[in-house]
Amino acid sequence: MDEVWVRERVRKGFTPGDLRAILEAGDDDFRVICREAVRVRDAHFPREAYLRAVIEFSNRCRCSCLYCGMRLGNRGAEGYELDADEIVETAATARKNGIGTFFLQAAESTTYEAGWLTDVISRISSLGMEVILCVGFHGVEELDAWRRAGAGKFILKHETSDPELFSRMKPGFLLQDRIAMLRTLRERGYGVGSGTLLGLPGQTIDSLVGDLLLMKELAVEMSSVSIFMPAAGTPLEHQPPGDPELGLRFVAAMRLFLGNTLIPATSTFQRLLPDGQLRCFQAGANVITVNMTPPRLRDEYTLYTDRFYVGLAHARETIARAGLTESSEGGLSWRR
Ligand code: SF4
Repeated sequence: MDEVWVRERVRKGFTPGDLRAILEAGDDDFRVICREAVRVRDAHFPREAYLRAVIEFSNRCRCSCLYCGMRLGNRGAEGYELDADEIVETAATARKNGIGTFFLQAAESTTYEAGWLTDVISRISSLGMEVILCVGFHGVEELDAWRRAGAGKFILKHETSDPELFSRMKPGFLLQDRIAMLRTLRERGYGVGSGTLLGLPGQTIDSLVGDLLLMKELAVEMSSVSIFMPAAGTPLEHQPPGDPELGLRFVAAMRLFLGNTLIPATSTFQRLLPDGQLRCFQAGANVITVNMTPPRLRDEYTLYTDRFYVGLAHARETIARAGLTESSEGGLSWRR
């Protein structure tokens, strides 16, 4: 595999076999792939990294995903919800620190009203911030109200494109419903994000190729990969974590295959690899998210155990070491 091989496919398109070859690349080939992934990123975006702040405002969940510490009935999980004032004050702090995008994340909670979230979005929007939502399944009335209040983007990760694995990992839910909601989000005017959880027990390289094909088909504006990490008290607590080196190949494959999506350097890479998030940027990522969940609560948002919390200084240092300039994605006018 050399740069001619990669460039020809960037120009003419990748077959599933080509994507598989990227995911299975050895170290020498992967160095070439990373160089080309950065070249593709630089062709679509300025040499910038987009900084976000996230607050995880509720960890109460109605779902029982096998891999998640917040699953319904997990032993030891403490339920919390933040109040609106604390969320908005946190957004204002992010704004003062030069962060232009605020990301509201919650489990699939049924404990807050849609109107309450509408008010929170509108207050944050009036600070001059872009608002991204990642709050699970909701109907079109709520989606429309949140869009009108100022939320411009919505992330709903498909996690895995393998329908059988999806239903095994997320009992009671179907992949096809998630895909339908991703299409609905697009119809309702949101910029749409999806993503893969890499390393789930039973996941195959072919199903990861399927993830890339699905994100291409959905024409997502934001694509991501997180590495599976076991969470205490779950049915998967004794499973090994996913392979972050494979995850880096997935980052590069997203950049080469999807072209102009926003791709975050997710925190699981930093937990599993020295300079893991820097290496994501070197594989074509261009977003990093600072965790602003209040420290007294963030250990309760147990997507996995022993999380790495991205602080502002670490994010800025990583951006600088990647040779990029910090910026805000709100200024981007691109659309897929
Ligand atoms: S992954 Fe999300 S939906 Fe599933 S149990 Fe955890 S918080 Fe709930």
